[in-house]
Amino acid sequence: MRIKNLLAATVCAALLASCGGAKEAEKTIFAMDTVMDIKAYGADAQSAVDEAENEIKRLETLFSRGNADSDIGRINGGASADVSPETAELIETALEVSSSTDGAFDITIAPVMDLWGFFTKDYRVPSDGEIKDALKYVDYRRVSVSGTHVSVGNGMKLDLGGIAKGYLSGRIIDIFKECGVTSGIVSLGGNVHCLGERPDGGAWRVAVQNPSGEGYIGVLSVTDKAVVTSGGYQRYFESGGKTYHHIIDPKTGVSAQSGLSSVTVVSEDGALADALSTALFVMGLDGAEKYYKEHGGFEAVLVADGGEVYVTDGLKDSFESEYEYKVING
Ligand code: AMP
Ligand code: MG
Repeated sequence: MRIKNLLAATVCAALLASCGGAKEAEKTIFAMDTVMDIKAYGADAQSAVDEAENEIKRLETLFSRGNADSDIGRINGGASADVSPETAELIETALEVSSSTDGAFDITIAPVMDLWGFFTKDYRVPSDGEIKDALKYVDYRRVSVSGTHVSVGNGMKLDLGGIAKGYLSGRIIDIFKECGVTSGIVSLGGNVHCLGERPDGGAWRVAVQNPSGEGYIGVLSVTDKAVVTSGGYQRYFESGGKTYHHIIDPKTGVSAQSGLSSVTVVSEDGALADALSTALFVMGLDGAEKYYKEHGGFEAVLVADGGEVYVTDGLKDSFESEYEYKVING
């Protein structure tokens, strides 16, 4: 079995900004199993970055699935727990996306992730029977949040891997603002979130990686936005000549094969962008297009397995690409 885990090593969106002049502070932190790069500009940059680091460590401790004493560890171990307001808020956002995407996004996917070895990195292909059994414990409708009390059905477990980094990037941007910073950018394992404009003026430029080759398929110019990519190329293993990646279709318990290679979502809301990038990847092009028309509130770049590129109409003026692309109208 050949194992590849590119998530930590590869930042799936490259930051192309070059910033000169302004006072800046930057930190690279390893947390949530990935490399996080945070950068702030201006007089308050250093304190903002220090505060952001504290918040990353605090939230990592709350959300960690590997720590039995964390909020998520206690829910998973005992089917219910009193948690911090942030954990409750994040789970509520996750449930809203689960509901609006008809379960394409589902944070109760944990038992299936475990079965495939994505949690331990001890990868294996489970039998159909094992998948069927694990799927009995996958159903976001059996998660309830009442204030800061969270409960799940017996035997169920939560996995915030599809949304936690987006939520965290939003918290960091809030901290930057509270510290008086008006220009900054963070990349949490490829989840990019930018505040304001570049310190030398103008939009931040965020590249969208080519999911099936070298380089980029285009560059987005954005201000005050999260840019989050989900792709089957980010974490996967190969067995018996087949590739199995880390985004699972909750209806089948197997890596989603929706015809899309990557989905990049652009939104002011980091958690929403993160959850939707995962969900639209599972839904495929038709489902994603329908969802965009019905819900809006975000923009997206979708790359199909054949290499075709689709861009929602709100990005028409901010996406530069050498590739031909089709526009999805809202
Ligand atoms: P992302 O890289 O944001 O697309 O999220 C992928 C991660 O989310 C995986 O590593 C799992 O932890 C989790 N995940 C996988 N499939 C799903 C799903 N259908 N819904 C919610 N979370 C998922
Ligand atoms: Mg996601």
